[in-house]
Amino acid sequence: MAIDTKNPETLALHAGYRADPTTGAVAVPIYQTTAYQFDHSQHAENLFALKEMGNIYSRIMNPTNDVLEQRVTALEGGAAALALSSGQAASAIAVQNIAQAGDNIVSSTDLYGGTWNLFANTFKTMGIEVRFVDPADPQAFRKATDDKTRAFYAETLPNPKLKVFPIREVADIANDIGIPLIADNTAAPILCKPLEHGAHIVVYSTTKYIGGHGTSIGGLIVDGGTFDWEKHAERFPMLNQPDPSYHGAVWTEATKPLGPVAYIIKARVTLLRDLGSSMSPFNAFQFIQGLETLPLRMREHCRNTQATADFLANHEAVETVIHPSRHTGEDKRRADTYLQGGYGGLLGFELKAGKEAGRRFIDALQLFYHVANIGDARSLAIHPATTTHSQLSSEERLATGVTDGYVRLSIGIEHIDDILADLGQALKASNG
Ligand code: PLP
Repeated sequence: MAIDTKNPETLALHAGYRADPTTGAVAVPIYQTTAYQFDHSQHAENLFALKEMGNIYSRIMNPTNDVLEQRVTALEGGAAALALSSGQAASAIAVQNIAQAGDNIVSSTDLYGGTWNLFANTFKTMGIEVRFVDPADPQAFRKATDDKTRAFYAETLPNPKLKVFPIREVADIANDIGIPLIADNTAAPILCKPLEHGAHIVVYSTTKYIGGHGTSIGGLIVDGGTFDWEKHAERFPMLNQPDPSYHGAVWTEATKPLGPVAYIIKARVTLLRDLGSSMSPFNAFQFIQGLETLPLRMREHCRNTQATADFLANHEAVETVIHPSRHTGEDKRRADTYLQGGYGGLLGFELKAGKEAGRRFIDALQLFYHVANIGDARSLAIHPATTTHSQLSSEERLATGVTDGYVRLSIGIEHIDDILADLGQALKASNG
């Protein structure tokens, strides 16, 4: 059912589903099935030939996942979405869908450590080169581009630096050259709408804020439907030339009757089919539950995080606080332009007393969980240099903004007094 609103609070509850047509169930059912009965042999043939859209096999599509995909598409203002088994699968498939051996992409240096590894090492073994550039200068993307460049890639609110990516500035360059901008919006759902600022494709780790309760791993790719793949046919042969893996389909032509969805359909029926990184319907159900309260939770995450940033900035044990509200100049302007309704739920800080004090601080926390995760309703803390970013070389680590003494907090939606009390006692303990 189409909902005639742009308000995220309403879309998060209603887009893509009204009631189960068979039972009337108001909650989205978990369609825990592998396969789907075809009506007759012609129906089966039509589905496989993409002459008709419908369910074939749950590795490629599932009705529970479909509601999640439609709901997130509506929230982002996109054309179509694809649910995947993890955020990592979403990043990998978003790129592999248009880049193959011999091609390159240009990526921001400010990335989650896992994405950095995927790009710098695993993609290299597949023959896809990733050229890393500093997003402080949007023109760096243009300079790194050549005729083998297939995408620009960035995180909208990357931790640990928490410097918001210049989406419009790089999207303008992308449009000028004819390259799609892929934006990982994991840390800023609801707050940032990358498609509205010119990004062409959005990826999410739904594991974080969208799920919101730390129960399930998942990912999503949302296609804005705004990139003209046919206009740039020479740069995108994978979408414009016959695909031997699907009886010679030319994706931009084969999907034309369905709207601007060539990119997502190809990802679904070739890469998801072949790699099998599907989201389980049970996890899709968890993410649908999470989405329902996402706008509400993001408000609370932002409010508590702002109060925590202010508290830490005034604390004698703290050297620096990294939070978008505390940036200055162009970084602050970008935060104010691209984030609406708050600066997100993440913050970082460095203790005056350095690395050992950081360890003591983490070990003294009682309310905060010490985990490698963000975006949970509970407050979380970690020391990235010895955990999430430990597989990078020290140069790579510094390039992503992780210094030895940096502590990352993902502020939850507990009462702010309890959050600050736990931080206060742990800071005290960090003195040794
Ligand atoms: N993108 C960002 C910004 C992340 O923080 C993460 C995980 O921490 C990922 C992608 C990968 O997501 P997942 O753990 O769901 O594979």
